[in-house]
Amino acid sequence: RKDGIWSCNTLEKAASLIQSHGPLHLLNYVQGEFQTTSSTKPPYIDSYEPKTGTAYAKVPCTQPDDVEAAIRAAKLAFPGWSKTPCAERSRYLRRVSELIQEHRELLAVWESIDQGKTIERARIEVDRAAANFSYFSTFILHEQTAARMVDSAWLTYEHRSPAGVFALISPWNMPLYLLTWKIAPCLAFGCTAVAKPSEVTSMSAFLLSSLFKKANIPAGVINIVFGDGPTTGSTLVASSLINGVSFTGSTATGINIRRMVAAQINKHLSLELGGKNPTLVFSDAMSNGHRDRTISVAASAAFENQGEICLCGSRIYVERAVYDEFVQSFTDYVSQKYTLGKTVGAVASLQHYAKVRSYLQLATDEGVTFKLGGVPDALDNVDSTGGYWIAPTILTNVAPTSALQKDEIFGPVVTITPVDSEEEAVGLANDSEYGLAAVLLTADGGRMRRVGEQLEAGLVWVNGWLVRELGTPFGGMKSSGVGREGGEYSRDVFTVVRTVHLPAY
Ligand code: NAD
Repeated sequence: RKDGIWSCNTLEKAASLIQSHGPLHLLNYVQGEFQTTSSTKPPYIDSYEPKTGTAYAKVPCTQPDDVEAAIRAAKLAFPGWSKTPCAERSRYLRRVSELIQEHRELLAVWESIDQGKTIERARIEVDRAAANFSYFSTFILHEQTAARMVDSAWLTYEHRSPAGVFALISPWNMPLYLLTWKIAPCLAFGCTAVAKPSEVTSMSAFLLSSLFKKANIPAGVINIVFGDGPTTGSTLVASSLINGVSFTGSTATGINIRRMVAAQINKHLSLELGGKNPTLVFSDAMSNGHRDRTISVAASAAFENQGEICLCGSRIYVERAVYDEFVQSFTDYVSQKYTLGKTVGAVASLQHYAKVRSYLQLATDEGVTFKLGGVPDALDNVDSTGGYWIAPTILTNVAPTSALQKDEIFGPVVTITPVDSEEEAVGLANDSEYGLAAVLLTADGGRMRRVGEQLEAGLVWVNGWLVRELGTPFGGMKSSGVGREGGEYSRDVFTVVRTVHLPAY
C-alpha cells in the first residue's frame, strides 16, 4: 500500500496481492483519517470476488457509535465548508476528478474484481465518476443568483444556501459511479456528508477516500463509513443531525427509509429506486438501414453489465409482423456478442446469483421457452468457488402476469413478447409498478413523440440507450423514485431556498 492506495493496476497483480496478503481490511474514512472502528473487534462482513467466489476483503460493519462520530465530524465541518467560496470548492472537485483520472486503471481493476463487471465496463464507469466531479466543479462556478426587477420599487431574488449534512447511500451495481454521482453535487453545493457504499461492493469507495485525502479536502467534509443496511445505513438515515438523504437502491429499502424519516418533516429526501424497463420494437425499426442498430441497442440495453443496471431494458415488446425475425436476429446477435467471461461479467454476489437463478427456475416451472441460456447450477454455500456466472438468457412465451414480467430480476435475463398494435405496446410497457426508463425503437418520426410521450418513465431513449447528459433530470416515476438529480435538479436536493424582496430606498 502506498498513500492508502493499493498500488497494483493489473488484474494479475491484484490477484497475487490477495493470495499473498490474505483478505484486505477496509477502514472507514472519518475526519480526514482512516480509522479502525471503536469496538476492539468490529464485526466484519466478508466481501467475495464474484468471478472466482473467493473471499478477498473484510468490510467493517460500522456500529451506531462510530456512525454517529462520523456524522458529528460532518456537522463540525459544515459551517466552514458551506462558507467556502464556490471557486474554491470548485477547485477541490476538479482536483478529485483529475486524481480519479490519474488512478483510472487502478480503480477500474479493483471495481472489476469487487463487482464482477468486465474491466471495459469498469473503465467506462471510472471515467463517468471523474465526469461527475468535473461537471459539478464547473456547474458551481455559474451559481450566481439570478436577480430580477419585479417592479420599479422592489428587487426580488432567489437565495439558496447549503442544506446541511447528508447521508449518501448507494447500491452494488455501479459502485464508484453512483456514489460519486451523490458526493460531487453534495460537496459542490456546500453540504458535508457521510457516505455509505453497499456492503457488497465497498472497495472503490475505500480507494476514493484516499483520493479525497490526496486532494486535501478539509477534514470532516466527506466521511465514508462501511457497513450493512440494518445497522450502519439505518443509523445514518435516522439521525436527527442528518439534514438530507440521497439514496439509490431498491424500492423496498426506499420505502423503509421513507418510513424511518416520516416524522422528520424537513429532511430532504431523494430516492432513486428500482426499475423493470420496457423496450418497444416497431416493424419500421427492422427495415434495412435500421435493423442492425435496433438489434444492438436492444441487446446492450438488456445485457450491459450483466443486466445489473437500473436502466436495463428487461422486457422487450415487438410488433408481431417482425416478431419472428427479431427474436431470431436478436438471439443470434446476443449469442455471438455477449460471451461469459469476455463481454459478460459475473453477477455481484452469491445472494444475487441465487435470486436470479430462482427466477430461471420459475421460468422452467412456468414452461416458458428459453431461446438462450438456462437454469445455472445451484451454488449452495458461501465457499462455492468458481464464481457467480449466469449466461445471457432470452425468454419467450412468458405470460404478461408472470413474475418474470413484473419483478425486477436485475440480471442477464430478458423476455420478448409480441404485440399487435401501438396501443397494446404502450399498455403493456406501462403495465408495471415501476417507471424508471424506456427504450423506443422506431424509424417513424411521428411515433417517436406520440409513443415516447405516453411512456410512464422518467427517462425515454429513442433509438439509443444510456445516453446521459449530467445536467438533465435523472429519476423515476411511480415506484422508481422520488425527486430528480442532475444539474439544477441536484441543486434542489442539496440546497434550501428563500425568496428575498428588497425595497429601492
Ligand atoms: P438495496 O436497497 O438492498 O441497498 C442499497 C443500499 O442501501 C446499500 O448500501 C444498503 O446497505 C443500504 N441499505 C439497505 N437497507 C437500509 C436501511 N434500512 N437503511 C439505510 N440503508 C440501507 O439495493 P441493492 O440490492 O444494493 O441495489 C439494487 C437496487 O438498486 C435495484 O433495485 C436497482 O434498480 C436499484 N438501482 C437504482 C438506480 C437508480 O438510479 N434508480 C441505480 C442503480 C441501482
